[in-house]
Amino acid sequence: MNDCLFCKIIRAEIPSEKVYEDDATYAFLDIHPVNHGHLLVVPKTHVKDIYDIPRKDFSRLMETVHELAPIVKAALNADGINIGMNNEGAAGQLVFHAHIHIIPRFSDDGHRHWHGNPYQDGEITKVGDALRKAFEK
Ligand code: AMP
Ligand code: ZN
Repeated sequence: MNDCLFCKIIRAEIPSEKVYEDDATYAFLDIHPVNHGHLLVVPKTHVKDIYDIPRKDFSRLMETVHELAPIVKAALNADGINIGMNNEGAAGQLVFHAHIHIIPRFSDDGHRHWHGNPYQDGEITKVGDALRKAFEK
């Protein structure tokens, strides 16, 4: 048994507003939602983040996200959906059990995305070069 908040939620040791569950994944309402209906979808097996989760388990998690997202949109009459995952503190991760946010969006909800950091002359090519090199196998 571990002390992880989301593991405790999955084990029903802490209450949650569960909306969906299957053999591998669990979905519940975020208690501090961007908009009402903001969901968290988690793997039932404890993993910290994107680096920790095996490829097949991440694919399985995203299958659930793919299934639920359009249903959330239709059920809540949303105008759009954001799908997000925060990894590590610098990226805003607060709970270190991997999870995907499904956030229903409404045309007039006033939620703003992060600010931009525009490329200066030639910078986009340098960043592209660095990533192409990193992706080489
Ligand atoms: P993140 O910043 O990606 O780690 O997101 C963690 C999310 O978990 C936040 O949006 C919190 O509002 C949410 N959260 C924290 N505790 C609970 C809880 N007990 N039940 C539901 N959501 C929670
Ligand atoms: Zn956990």
